[in-house]
Amino acid sequence: MARYTEANCKLCRREGEKLYLKGSRCFGDKCAFERRAYSPGEHGRTTRRKGSEYALRLREKQKVRRIYGIMERQFRNYFQRAARQKGITGENLLRMLECRLDNLTYRLGFAPSRKAARQLVLHRHFLVNDRVVNIPSYQVKPGDIISVREKSKNLDLIHQALREGRTADLPYLRLDKARLQGELLEYPKRTDIPLLVQEQLIVELYSK
Ligand code: SF4
Repeated sequence: MARYTEANCKLCRREGEKLYLKGSRCFGDKCAFERRAYSPGEHGRTTRRKGSEYALRLREKQKVRRIYGIMERQFRNYFQRAARQKGITGENLLRMLECRLDNLTYRLGFAPSRKAARQLVLHRHFLVNDRVVNIPSYQVKPGDIISVREKSKNLDLIHQALREGRTADLPYLRLDKARLQGELLEYPKRTDIPLLVQEQLIVELYSK
């Protein structure tokens, strides 16, 4: 299965903003972006970013792709599915990304980052409606219950992530910390998704 192997912090520096890809490290003074807020590479300090409209749209797409940890081909598939659905394509796209199982386990606070959440899903630590699901891209539907598997309930990583509690309180999710389970209450509305991106730019990029 294809996945990102590039250093996470380089991705933030490349995009010119914090993408919060490394869990608690992102909130401390070890954050590479806090120390070196310029593009990686030999000419990172001196190279001026091109400000063309194309570049702007491309960067917005790359940013979202990197935040959710998705490869180009899969991202394009998401876009095509979003475009076929009723409603606003950009919002459909974000809704699908947001409803991925790895993202929701992260949003619920069971993992310190989406990358860690993806690993936990792959290693079969979660159930959806009482059945093991080890597919990070699995689309969760309203009413679905995500829970930590009985034999995984002592995992330090999960408890530490819950203690740190960095994830936002989101209206489309309900978390039951004591039972280590959460529910997707409804499909997320755009205004409720805590993501500072202009999804319309992605639509414009792919619509060319
Ligand atoms: Fe980005 Fe900083 Fe987190 Fe590294 S530590 S992934 S630079 S936010």
